[in-house]
Amino acid sequence: MNKPIFSIIAPIYNEIGNIPELYPRVREVMDQTDRPWELILVDDGSTDGSTEAIRQLAREDDRVRPVIFARNFGHQIAVTAGLDTSRGEAVIIIDADLQDPPEVILDLIEKWREGYEVVYAVREEREGESWFKTATASLFYRLIYRITDVNIPLDTGDFRLMDRKVVSIMNQMREKHRFLRGMSAWVGFKQVGVKYKRKARFTGETKYPLKKMIKLALNAITSFSYFPLQLATYLGFIAAGLSVIAIPVVIILRLTTGTVLLGQATTLIIVLFLGGVQLISLGIIGEYIGRIYDEAKGRPLYIVAEGPESTKNDTE
Ligand code: UDP
Ligand code: MG
Repeated sequence: MNKPIFSIIAPIYNEIGNIPELYPRVREVMDQTDRPWELILVDDGSTDGSTEAIRQLAREDDRVRPVIFARNFGHQIAVTAGLDTSRGEAVIIIDADLQDPPEVILDLIEKWREGYEVVYAVREEREGESWFKTATASLFYRLIYRITDVNIPLDTGDFRLMDRKVVSIMNQMREKHRFLRGMSAWVGFKQVGVKYKRKARFTGETKYPLKKMIKLALNAITSFSYFPLQLATYLGFIAAGLSVIAIPVVIILRLTTGTVLLGQATTLIIVLFLGGVQLISLGIIGEYIGRIYDEAKGRPLYIVAEGPESTKNDTE
């Protein structure tokens, strides 16, 4: 088999209904390029039979290369395994639920041929997503944009094409808590966006409940910004400044009018408020320390139960 020019990576977590649609759509689009390609399907611990569907596809078409995880490791890690496995000159990351239409890959490739090393797809419109998801996502991208040092493009997901140069560098970045779109922006080179309409899911439910979204957001912020850590310093200066102003005010009022300002309730509220601020600051430090601890442990990012070669051996 020829060395592929294009690698498509699709992470799969319980997408049994989408696999039979994803494969032919990708095949049809990629065959138009007239270049060898591979489709890497990373099974992120599915329990709905997706694993067997992936094995079956790999048996029928040796351009399909499965990576089957020992358990669920999460979307970003699944894509990372795909990047590690990929061999193409250009690597395309796509969701398995067809929210990112495979047809857009051709537009990404066109920009790559013009000489861009990262071509990210920008969501111009979103179909079939709740206002809550759209609003929180939009808020999140803008927050990240403001507080991080890397210019992470607005309204882009992981749907993108990356040149081999970029992928090789990404593959050296072995951080445990990953925010791939930030990492690929961090690498640099020539980057460009291509607009597209994000579709509704073909079938099934989102695998990103609020909890996972918050985790991703925290990973994004802690990976690319110290701002939350500095927040405690700012709040400390504000609180200390207020108390410096308050002391003479209280003394003067007491001496001139005899008013006693602080009652029990006020004291209680202030103690609770400052106690809260301190605990939140500790929690923020904890978020960073936990991540440092994970790095220090140095565990592998993921565990592969069946790699692309082992499935192929079954059939030979
Ligand atoms: N996914 C995964 N592991 C997970 C969660 C999601 O591999 O733990 C995959 C999922 O199968 C899909 C992609 O990541 O191909 C994006 O997930 P989803 O469509 O649920 O997210 P949304 O589009 O709703 O943000
Ligand atoms: Mg989706």
